[in-house]
Amino acid sequence: MTFIITEPCRGTKDKSCVEVCPVDCIYDRKDWETLLIHPSECIDCALCVDVCPVQAIYPENEVPEWFSEWIGRNYEAFGVARPGPSA
Ligand code: SF4
Ligand code: SF4
Repeated sequence: MTFIITEPCRGTKDKSCVEVCPVDCIYDRKDWETLLIHPSECIDCALCVDVCPVQAIYPENEVPEWFSEWIGRNYEAFGVARPGPSA
């Protein structure tokens, strides 16, 4: 699995999450509206969740329906194929 950054990061991008991520898998680019998590590098430690001031970060399987498009955004930003539903 991976963790996913969603819409509330937009306009915030304070990088609190970057400071706590043990594997440096949270990236920023000037042309991105939010920071994004590399789905292949994230180790699911959840350390980033509580430090986010706007509660933008969710485990992939707990992303609220209204933020679901953000799952694809995190995957697509790094060219990582999104796993299909497990059987
Ligand atoms: S869950 Fe852990 S490894 Fe994944 S982005 Fe957050 S801090 Fe980094
Ligand atoms: S801590 Fe939250 S708001 Fe700040 S950069 Fe990370 S995801 Fe965005």
